[in-house]
Amino acid sequence: MGLFWFRSDLRLEDNEALTAAIAQCEKVVPVFCFSPRLWEKHPLGFSRTGAHRIQFLKESLDDLQTALQELGNDLWIVVGEPAEKLPEIAEKVGATVVFGHREAATEEIREEEAVANKIDLELYWGSTLYHLEDLPMPVASLPAVFGGFRRKVEKKSSIREVFARPTAIPGVDQPANQEAYLHLFPEFVAKDKRTAFPFKGGSNAALARLKEYLWEGDHLGRYKLTRNGLVGTNYSSKFSPWLANGSLSPRTIYQEVKRYEEARVKNDSTYWLVFELIWRDFFHFVSLQHGRNLFLYQGLQRVDPRLGKQQATFWKWAEGRTKDGFVNANQLELSSTGWMSNRGRQNAASYLVHDMGIDWRWGAAWFESQLLDYDPCSNYGNWQYVTGIGNDTRTKKFDTQWQAERYDPKGRFQQLWTGMF
Ligand SMILES: Cc1cc2nc3c(=O)[nH]c(=O)nc-3n(C[C@H](O)[C@H](O)[C@H](O)COP(=O)(O)OP(=O)(O)OC[C@H]3O[C@@H](n4cnc5c(N)ncnc54)[C@H](O)[C@@H]3O)c2cc1C
Repeated sequence: MGLFWFRSDLRLEDNEALTAAIAQCEKVVPVFCFSPRLWEKHPLGFSRTGAHRIQFLKESLDDLQTALQELGNDLWIVVGEPAEKLPEIAEKVGATVVFGHREAATEEIREEEAVANKIDLELYWGSTLYHLEDLPMPVASLPAVFGGFRRKVEKKSSIREVFARPTAIPGVDQPANQEAYLHLFPEFVAKDKRTAFPFKGGSNAALARLKEYLWEGDHLGRYKLTRNGLVGTNYSSKFSPWLANGSLSPRTIYQEVKRYEEARVKNDSTYWLVFELIWRDFFHFVSLQHGRNLFLYQGLQRVDPRLGKQQATFWKWAEGRTKDGFVNANQLELSSTGWMSNRGRQNAASYLVHDMGIDWRWGAAWFESQLLDYDPCSNYGNWQYVTGIGNDTRTKKFDTQWQAERYDPKGRFQQLWTGMF
């Protein structure tokens, strides 16, 4: 008998660790554990997990639970440290081993180590497009910049096949224990009608979006032309929130892109979506390589970015009250919906760091709290990149006025979120 520890892999399809658990154990008990770090407060007073993401996570767990129930199993939801909760459940149901996926960021890795000290833990790699074991270099000698990494993996590695969705997961007779957790995240917000991300959490919604973006709307064939957009659902794929909690696998996306290329069109746009997924991979492997330096003020470069901690200035930025209407619109979109475009994120981050001179980690923590798609590797990696203290040291200061004129020339985006232009 084994436990399956769901973490950032909230899906049944392309789930290697779950496939292994089913193959090796007569019965499997699926567990999701709400770790206390999720509702910790940042020193500035906001929760590490804001209202938008907790709602999205709830929808994702509901969807997963239904999928497990359809296979004759169920999802245990517990609140507390995984290193305490998993051994407790194992004892209750008579399990001797825990299966799950490895993660790439330091807190999650520490969590794994703590669990492994208490019970047998069998971990697999499953969050990236390219498998860790298929990289053409050890993680310790990852090329310093993205271009070098991308060229090497594209030339020397290949992407594994998707694991089939299980058709049955035999479970135990005991009813699943589902502890209440929403009270730990007291804020609640209704969906803003203006949102660019009107979708729900969970694998079903993710697969529906994949179908819509590629096949029904045919948006993929134009992705490279539209990806810098700011308004609407289809300027970019919007896959990131599902990728972040694992209800969608990057390999599933890749497989569909290949099918689309065969059936419809293969062009710069279809390549560019995969190119962006390789960026995501890169940040995951960089996180494995550099560990806690991803979260430290001096970044991977170990240099002082000379930034300050003026709270009033920070809050002007976070609440969209700066002198820059474009930055404000992006910040208002984020706090109202949990979504901000990539163009918006680059500008908002650059403004905080390079125009306001505020510690990049405060900005990264605010994004951590607010973003639907928060992922430690992509978030802290991109913040370091914009600050110029990550692997790439070239300054990434964005001229936000110029950017607004180029990407929001008629002020449609600013009008939508600030009511002014
Ligand atoms: C300061 C800052 C913070 C960010 N924080 C996060 C974060 O917490 N979580 C997150 O998933 N992305 C983050 N990004 C990257 C990027 O903005 C989002 O992945 C993208 O906007 C998501 O929209 P999409 O799914 O429509 O992307 P698309 O443009 O459709 O791209 C497809 C996928 O490629 C990946 N991708 C695209 N751009 C990047 C990138 N620059 N870095 C890493 N992966 C990328 C994402 O998984 C995305 O879903 C951040 C970028 C910046 C500048």
